Amino acid sequence: MCGNCLLRETAYICPMQCPKGLRNGPCGSGAVEGCCVDPTRPCVWHLIYERAEAQGKLDRLLEVEAPLDWSRVGRETWGTVAAEARSRGLLSPTYLSRTDDWRMQMQLLFQDIRQPEWWQGDDLYHPATSQQPASGLQASLAGGEFAVTAEISPPASADADKFRSNAGRLRDMIHASNVTQNPMATPRMSSVACSALLLEEGIEPVLQLTARDYNRFALQSEALGASALGIHNILCLTGDPPTNNPGPASGLPFDLDATQMLWILRRMRDEHRFLDGREIESPPKLFLGAAASPSGPNLLHETLRLKKKINAGAQFIQTQLVYDIDALCRWLEALDKSDLLRKTHILVGIGPLRSAKVARYIQEHIPDIVVPQTFINALERSSNPDETGFEFALELIRKLTVLPGVSGVHIMTMGWEEILGRLVREAELPAFQRR
Ligand code: SF4
Repeated sequence: MCGNCLLRETAYICPMQCPKGLRNGPCGSGAVEGCCVDPTRPCVWHLIYERAEAQGKLDRLLEVEAPLDWSRVGRETWGTVAAEARSRGLLSPTYLSRTDDWRMQMQLLFQDIRQPEWWQGDDLYHPATSQQPASGLQASLAGGEFAVTAEISPPASADADKFRSNAGRLRDMIHASNVTQNPMATPRMSSVACSALLLEEGIEPVLQLTARDYNRFALQSEALGASALGIHNILCLTGDPPTNNPGPASGLPFDLDATQMLWILRRMRDEHRFLDGREIESPPKLFLGAAASPSGPNLLHETLRLKKKINAGAQFIQTQLVYDIDALCRWLEALDKSDLLRKTHILVGIGPLRSAKVARYIQEHIPDIVVPQTFINALERSSNPDETGFEFALELIRKLTVLPGVSGVHIMTMGWEEILGRLVREAELPAFQRR
């Protein structure tokens, strides 16, 4: 028993069946067929979406739900509900006869229990209170520039020299560089340390923080520290399952999810408050981002999932790898219909592929990525797969530069670092022209 029951909001399916303990929607790695932590069972969040849709209650899933109050874990919630209902006179025979009014009062009671004073989550859009850009990336995007970000892996050692020289190659080619946080749940140099090294190399960092590695206290202190160091772009992610690590898995469920991270950081920035209500004298300057999956299996559910993150505070979105431009266009259209495109900046994930084997692996094993069969066949037949993969990525980027609703690209080279410069140069992307 989690003691923080959300059953009424989640179509009466308990979200605590999610091994990561996510309370605001699925992680990016699950599918109806199998949870990413325990593939023997379906992703509970996909079941919740399906039932809520069948009941016409999908909108209920938009409310940003609070992290667990761990002091209530192990106790049941219904006793609290009954006691509160009794104290409000809602269990008296007089009230029970006035059905509509009673129902409304009960809804308010459930909401008060669900949304304690320290959280106050809702289903509304919360734009940043200041129009002043917090970072160079934000300023470029606000100015209508087509932005280029790229991903860099932190070293699995304490040696900063190699990281510096790898990073140096990105200088003047991109607007900002993401530093991944313990990719595949494998410890590496910390994301904040690597971000500070990037700053020293003259490269603007995007600090990736995962719910897997940060509880509510660490998240808030890291945001203050990052801002003080000059790191202002933060991408909030759930994180790969800890079971990906070959050693013993770390703790499950997580303390937070990505939506809750956005909610907490936005309130620190805009309302100058810690989660516990204390005032922050000098709040952090932050440009907040989230991830999304344009090729996810259900467009309606993906849109809802992203709307919640944007409402909570996501000002930019870096997407999962995209190879299927038609699927991307359908996704953009759905976001536009939900009035989301004007509220955030979309940076589309690009990952050049060098072999049919890798393309097939991605297509078969990563549920949120679609690699068109025609591309896999072309790689298979090619006498120079590197060149075929490069040309495909280049063509995709060229299309994206003129696609309405796309603000830039996020290039993930997956170990093929030398390709980045050539892509940026041959696509004539603005970051390179600025040199
Ligand atoms: S861990 Fe991810 S895939 Fe598994 S149930 Fe939770 S949201 Fe679904």
